[in-house]
Amino acid sequence: MNIGILTSGGDSQGMNSAIRAITRTAIVKGHKVFGIQKGYQGLMEGLFIPLDLRDVGDILHRGGTFLQSARSLEFKEATGQEKALAKLREANIDHLVVIGGDGSYHGALALYERGFPTYGLPGTIDNDIACTDYTIGFDTTVNLVVGLINNVRDTSTSHERTSIIEVMGRGSGDIALHAGVASGADVIIIPEVEWSMDEVCQVIHEGFNRGKKHGIVVVAEGAASGEHVAEEIERKTGLEARSTKLGYVQRGGSPSAFDRILTSRMGDKVIECIESGISGVAIGIEGGEITSHPLKEVLSKKSTFDVKLYEIAKNLSK
Ligand code: ATP
Repeated sequence: MNIGILTSGGDSQGMNSAIRAITRTAIVKGHKVFGIQKGYQGLMEGLFIPLDLRDVGDILHRGGTFLQSARSLEFKEATGQEKALAKLREANIDHLVVIGGDGSYHGALALYERGFPTYGLPGTIDNDIACTDYTIGFDTTVNLVVGLINNVRDTSTSHERTSIIEVMGRGSGDIALHAGVASGADVIIIPEVEWSMDEVCQVIHEGFNRGKKHGIVVVAEGAASGEHVAEEIERKTGLEARSTKLGYVQRGGSPSAFDRILTSRMGDKVIECIESGISGVAIGIEGGEITSHPLKEVLSKKSTFDVKLYEIAKNLSK
């Protein structure tokens, strides 16, 4: 088989590791692999490079994606998709693996519905894709954020102030929730749970009254702006509060061991699907098992939110 691979949408740590896993597994099993540069844009332009075993050497530990990523409005239209299909046929590519978020999955589904066998791997730090407990890059990002919060915590203690850390995640609060629990945040503000500024201020105030030397508030970008939360805490409590927006540092850096192993397993699974004639599916990990579900099903569901972990966080912030 001739397998094309592209990375699309926002990049995430572990995308390189996924490309390596798919490429090597495919070649070992007798298939040919083509890297497609710059996502769907490069697909429409025919930016294809043949990949051999050595071409994916020395990328396992690198963040970003060596195939580069892009967003393309043209590809959302039927004409863009037909252009892409023509390029795939011209290059004799018969299967396409897309590593990206839900937008990229929509693109993969569109090609599948036009009769081309496509596959999705969940490449996004946001952990906002259904039918998988973890997306590629999420674990690395959470670890990175925890390290940065540790640093902020040191200086917060010195100055007896409250630090508000705004993290990424788009509409998902998963990065904030997991990083918040792992770094002992006093308050975690996420879009999945209703919250009020008064309650946030009360928790911070009570913490200082109980003898805490700092306050830590982790805010998901989809719930509020860290800057606004800091201003409100100062205004309502009179306590000093400073906001730090972590931004793109969260998306870079070397992938964690978890993300490297996850992508190695997902790469193996996608080749298994290709060889079994199953297509139009997305690969996930559920309860520790690597699984596949139709792209249509994945896109029709919302990713689950861990309510229990949120309750645990509340209990532990006392
Ligand atoms: P992230 O969640 O990290 O941002 P993403 O994959 O959701 O990643 P998007 O920008 O939403 O990022 O999508 C990536 C690309 O997928 C788009 O630029 C577009 O080319 C394609 N795409 C998005 N939605 C559709 C759609 N409905 N139909 C066809 N293609 C789409």
